[in-house]
Amino acid sequence: MATSTVNHIVIIGGGSAGWLSAGLIAAQPHLTHNAKVTLIESPNVPTLGVGEGTWPTMRQTLKTIGISETQFIRQCDASFKQGSRFDGWSHDENEGQANEHYYHPFSLPVAYQNLNIAPYWFAQHDAVSFSHAVSSQTYLCDHNKAPKSHLHSDYQTVANYGYHLDAGKFAQLLQQHCIDKLNVNHIISHVDDVINDDDNYISAVQTRDHGLITGDLFIDCSGHHGRLIEQHYKVALQSQDHILFNDRAVAVQVPYANNEQEILSYTKATAQDTGWIWDIGLQSRRGVGMVYSSKFETTQGAKDKLISYLNKTQSHLSLAELTIRELKFTPGYREHFWHKNCIAIGMSAGFIEPLEASALVMVELSLNNLLANFPTHKNAMPQLAQRFDQQTHYRWQRIIEFLKLHYVLSKRTSEYWQAHRAPNAAPRALIDNLTLWQYQSPWLNDFDRAQEVFSSASYQYVLYGMKHLPQFPAMKMPAAVIEHFTKSQQEAKQGLAKLPTNRQLLNHIQKFGLQPI
Ligand SMILES: Cc1cc2nc3c(=O)[nH]c(=O)nc-3n(C[C@H](O)[C@H](O)[C@H](O)COP(=O)(O)OP(=O)(O)OC[C@H]3O[C@@H](n4cnc5c(N)ncnc54)[C@H](O)[C@@H]3O)c2cc1C
Repeated sequence: MATSTVNHIVIIGGGSAGWLSAGLIAAQPHLTHNAKVTLIESPNVPTLGVGEGTWPTMRQTLKTIGISETQFIRQCDASFKQGSRFDGWSHDENEGQANEHYYHPFSLPVAYQNLNIAPYWFAQHDAVSFSHAVSSQTYLCDHNKAPKSHLHSDYQTVANYGYHLDAGKFAQLLQQHCIDKLNVNHIISHVDDVINDDDNYISAVQTRDHGLITGDLFIDCSGHHGRLIEQHYKVALQSQDHILFNDRAVAVQVPYANNEQEILSYTKATAQDTGWIWDIGLQSRRGVGMVYSSKFETTQGAKDKLISYLNKTQSHLSLAELTIRELKFTPGYREHFWHKNCIAIGMSAGFIEPLEASALVMVELSLNNLLANFPTHKNAMPQLAQRFDQQTHYRWQRIIEFLKLHYVLSKRTSEYWQAHRAPNAAPRALIDNLTLWQYQSPWLNDFDRAQEVFSSASYQYVLYGMKHLPQFPAMKMPAAVIEHFTKSQQEAKQGLAKLPTNRQLLNHIQKFGLQPI
């Protein structure tokens, strides 16, 4: 370290993770005792440039950084995301279940903090889907409605929402804001070497064009290169490919047929024999891609599946004009995330397939965690590092269990799906919970830490969306519960009547903006 107190934070990497780190840190100088922030990015190593789905947490993140929602929506081609829809995850297509789908909306089931409504829904599971019964947001998704109207100001909402965005434009907006408004020092140069002090803490990085840059805390946002955490400190990535097999993606940007085409209010995830296809609606285009496992699928096979999907969903497309990107990743996360005075955030910390879009939220959570326990002095680092590691490991493990849930409940029959259901391919904690949930419904006590990544509500949406019903008899609804259900349906109808579509609200924001807060 250059000094024993932390006066200078150096971030390596200018992708979404690097600029989100710079923004959240520089916007909250009271949490870092006014530490200076420098971001170094290589002109030779491109950013990943994918990652189009965020969580509702992004609203608070942008607000904290000081970016208005209007500016964000205008500059990032962003749209509103109200959850995910899973198509064809339960059965093979040829089982006559062509329209089978379920939602995992961002809003909690009605009355969730006071009452577990799931056991009362079981009696009517054939009549109405779980998410339709307990969340009015599902109706908004069905009709591609916005989560609010032009009468609401920046970040205000009727239904909980995150965003779909253009990752390249997002990094550019953050960069511009961090440099112009938050005084972040930006250096464009490749980091060639790393210099340690006597305690093996990093004291400086050697850049190709700007000499030595000294610092006290180094944040590794260099993506899968792991320039500090892996190349310098040799902290291993713990592969999770025995649980979640996907390690490849092919992705394409698809223009809309016309300016009136509906913009989806959710990420659509459609199951395939060897993976799944995401479909995301931005303002000016769709982002569509297939995630798959190289053990079960070839690149050409994945491209063929992607093209077949595109042909089914949009007829006018000239497929020959589309450029398909190929992406590779190793599903896994680091053995340690904080080593000496180096913290890995973003892809350098790990990545598991984009189902449920948990990467950017992990960036946000890691930064919130770091800033809530900021190491003002070198002596505090080992203890804080240990805490940070424990918390981050916990989160990765919960993410893996939740993603795996989507696969183990499926009855799809291809080799890929069968392998997912093999007894040794699921985490023990998930198997135990699934056993328990045959006799009781997931609820508040199942995941009781502050800031759980996926709450028991998320488990309910997936379990009951995939019709994985418990073995205990359905409960008869008391009058109070019927009242809740009725209220939820009424809210849905009122919401439907009043709210604009996603496209209408986005067009309005482009023209007139939202009221600033
Ligand atoms: C197929 C796919 C789909 C995804 N979908 C989603 C999604 O829907 N939602 C979501 O939240 N996430 C998603 N992600 C993850 C998301 O893309 C990443 O979390 C996000 O882009 C952050 O990446 P990053 O900034 O960590 O790394 P990168 O974008 O790779 O940036 C790395 C930076 O480090 C710099 N760098 C590297 N080496 C050096 C060096 N030696 N010196 C200086 N600089 C260096 C590079 O120049 C670059 O600026 C997806 C990922 C994939 C692969």
